[in-house]
Amino acid sequence: MSHSGSKELPFSSLPKMWVYLYPYLSRGELSVEHVRQFLQQPAPNRGKKTLYMHVPFCDTICTFCPFVRSTNYQDKLQPYVDALVKELKSIAGTPRMQGVALDAIFVGGGTPSVLSPEQIHQIGETIHSNFKLKEGYEWTFEVEAKSATEDKLKAMHEIGVNRMSFGVQTFNPKYRKMFNLTASHDEIKRTRELAGKYFKGFNMDLLYQLPGQSIDEILEDLQHAVDLNTTSIDAYPLDYTITSKGFLQSIKKERLPKPPNAYEKVAQQEVVTNFLIEHGYGQEFIYTFIRQNAEHKRFVFGETLYGHYEDECIGAGLSAFSYQAGLVYRNFDQVEPYIRAVEETGFGADIVNEYHAIEKGLIYFPKRMSIDIDDIDRLALDARYYEKLDEFEAKGLIVRDGNLLKLTREGQPWYMNMMIEMLPERTKHLHDTISATLNERAEFTFDDELIVFA
Ligand code: SF4
Repeated sequence: MSHSGSKELPFSSLPKMWVYLYPYLSRGELSVEHVRQFLQQPAPNRGKKTLYMHVPFCDTICTFCPFVRSTNYQDKLQPYVDALVKELKSIAGTPRMQGVALDAIFVGGGTPSVLSPEQIHQIGETIHSNFKLKEGYEWTFEVEAKSATEDKLKAMHEIGVNRMSFGVQTFNPKYRKMFNLTASHDEIKRTRELAGKYFKGFNMDLLYQLPGQSIDEILEDLQHAVDLNTTSIDAYPLDYTITSKGFLQSIKKERLPKPPNAYEKVAQQEVVTNFLIEHGYGQEFIYTFIRQNAEHKRFVFGETLYGHYEDECIGAGLSAFSYQAGLVYRNFDQVEPYIRAVEETGFGADIVNEYHAIEKGLIYFPKRMSIDIDDIDRLALDARYYEKLDEFEAKGLIVRDGNLLKLTREGQPWYMNMMIEMLPERTKHLHDTISATLNERAEFTFDDELIVFA
C-alpha cells in the first residue's frame, strides 16, 4: 500500500487488539447452577456442535504467551486429567448433549502433547463411551515437537484423532530464541515425519509481524512450512496487546524492536496471503490457509468458533469457554479451583453469562470471509447492520456473489475494523474498554495510524 493512495483508505488506523472471542464475558451475572439447569434443555437442531478440551501445562514458557499455563505440572497432571474426564462425563450426561452428535473436537492448550499415551487413551475412552461423533468428524490435537513422541502420536491416532496442529510459530533461530521456543529445526522435522505416519491433516501455526522481522524472514518461514508438506497453515500476526508483560517491557526498554507500523502490517499480511495462494493453498479464513489438494479441506472447529449463534462449542478443562445458544461461560482458570469445582458440582464453570448474540455470525463474517445472505436475513437484525453492509460494499470491501457476501482482497486489511464497526453498542463499549486496558499495559505507543494525505 502506498501513502499516496491513502486519501481513499476506508479507515484511518488498524485496531491493535484482534484476538478475542465474541461476545465478551463479564463476571458476576450467573452461577454454575444456571449451567446445570440450562443443559437440561435440548440443543437447537440447527448449527454445528463441537467440543473443546484444554490442557494447561507446558514444558517451557514462551516469552510472548498470554495463555493460562503452568510448567510445574508433574504432580498435577493425573488429578487434572481425572477432573477433565469427570467434567466430560457430566457434560455428556446432560439432556442437551444427549441428542447431539459432535462435528468436531479440539484438544488445545497449553501443550496437550505433555499427556502420556495412557492419559490420551483415558480421554479417548471417555469420549467414545459418552459422546456421539458424526461420521466424518474432525478431531484435532495440538502438539509441540519435543513432547510429541511416537507413542503419543500413535495413541492419538488410536483414539480417532485425525488432525494434528503444530505450534511452530517460527523456524528462524533468532526469533525462536527471542520467544524461548526450545525445539530445534530437526526436532520439528522429525515430528512432521512422524505425524505423516498417523494423520492426514497436519496444521501448523506460524506467527509473523514479529519485532524487527523482515519480509524475507517471513517468506523463509512460510517456505519451511510449505516444504514440510503442511496441509493447513494458520499464519497469525502477533497480537502485541495480549502478549506477556515481560515481553512488552522488553520492547519498551528497547531491548527488542517495536512492532511494525500499520503500513508494514498491511504489506506483510498481503505478502503472506499472496505467497500461500501462489503455493497452492486456499484462503479458508483470513489467517487460515488449506492446501487445495489436501484430504481435509475444512477447519470445522474454526467454522463453529467463528460461526453463527446456533453453532455451539462446549468446553471442558481449565479456562475453557462454552458458547451455547442462550448461555456462555468460562471455566476456572487455576488448577486447584477447577478441580475442586468439578469434584463438587461436576462442572468447571466460573464466569457464566446469558448469551443472545444472534448477530454473532455476521460479526465474524469479515474473519470468515464469506456469509450466506439467507443466514443474515433469517436473523431479522436491526436495519443498522444492513446499512453497514451497504457502506462496506460501496467502499469495495465486500462484494455480492450470488447468494454470498464475500470479503474482497481490498477488504482484507480492514477485516477487524469491519468487525468492530458491526459490534452492537453495548458490546462496542466493552470492546473499547478491553482494548484500551490492554494497550495501556504496553507503556509504549503503537504506530497504528494510517496517515491520510490531503
Ligand atoms: S505459546 Fe503454547 S507452548 Fe508456548 S507457553 Fe504458550 S501455551 Fe505453552
